[in-house]
Amino acid sequence: MDFACPRTWAEALEVQAQEPDTVPICGGTDVMVDVNFDRRRPAALLDLTRVRDLQGWSHRDGRIVLGAGVTYARVIDELGDRLPGLAMAARTVGSPQIRNRGTVGGNLGAASPAGDSHPPLLATETVVVAESVRGARRIEIADFYTGVKRNALEPDELIREIEVEVAGGPQQFSKIGPRNAMVIAVAGFALALHPDVRRVGTGLGSASPTPRRAAEAEVFVAAEFDERGLWESRSELPESVAEEFGRRVGLATEPIDDVRGSAAYRKHAISVLARRALTWAWSDYRRHRL
Ligand SMILES: Cc1cc2nc3c(=O)[nH]c(=O)nc-3n(C[C@H](O)[C@H](O)[C@H](O)COP(=O)(O)OP(=O)(O)OC[C@H]3O[C@@H](n4cnc5c(N)ncnc54)[C@H](O)[C@@H]3O)c2cc1C
Repeated sequence: MDFACPRTWAEALEVQAQEPDTVPICGGTDVMVDVNFDRRRPAALLDLTRVRDLQGWSHRDGRIVLGAGVTYARVIDELGDRLPGLAMAARTVGSPQIRNRGTVGGNLGAASPAGDSHPPLLATETVVVAESVRGARRIEIADFYTGVKRNALEPDELIREIEVEVAGGPQQFSKIGPRNAMVIAVAGFALALHPDVRRVGTGLGSASPTPRRAAEAEVFVAAEFDERGLWESRSELPESVAEEFGRRVGLATEPIDDVRGSAAYRKHAISVLARRALTWAWSDYRRHRL
């Protein structure tokens, strides 16, 4: 197995262009599990951990530009106030060891329907920036997932960074699993209130072949908030709205039966998570909490 360990982004892109079968590796918490279990035997690995451009984050036009190599631990420690939904999801990933190595870029690279970063990234207006020696392109998060564990990257492309909107309102994330830690989500859900544009964003995990939004439920709840003047009054959220929102989010799922849960359970669970997330986020909004 060839192993490349470039120090610059330009070098990394060059290696990936020369041998598009090369497997990039950030934290290795997905790649090395596959290699150790002999499920994957890549001809070449491209270690991105020494590429400094990938290891930092910055502000740009109201967004956080997150290098593909930023770990979950850093998202939690450094960005919990600006990206609360992503930080909530990061806190649920694996164990401290996994959070110290695993990255949001790697979660996107793996594109598992159960990946915990995806719901909060979908609930906000996230853009994935991919790059190759041919140039950079911006991919809207909803277009990034193309199938089960498949994404929109071309073979010579690498993820450089992820642009995530700084939270303009309360955000929530929750997932269901058989225990509280070290668990792959049986169902996951994220919600973001965007009071500035009167929008409610959603993201569903482990509920369909790819992570996805519940677009129809988003339109429904935003219209209810508008018609009832709730954005201005910040008055109590009618239970019927939360119930109906949960039901419509359930309709957006396309779950499977597998060892971790049945399709029927997942559909029900996502509805419950959605109803609760809306109620919690609304309660924060009423108290003028971000
Ligand atoms: C014990 C354990 C517990 C886990 N728990 C969870 C959990 O609770 N929730 C969860 O979501 N995941 C979990 N995972 C999976 C894993 O930790 C995450 O998917 C993590 O985000 C992967 O990040 P990484 O940097 O380690 O990726 P890597 O293993 O380095 O790479 C993952 C994939 O992304 C590709 N890739 C990496 N970097 C790039 C790049 N810059 N451009 C293009 N492609 C790239 C790789 O080629 C590979 O296909 C767990 C894994 C383990 C071993």
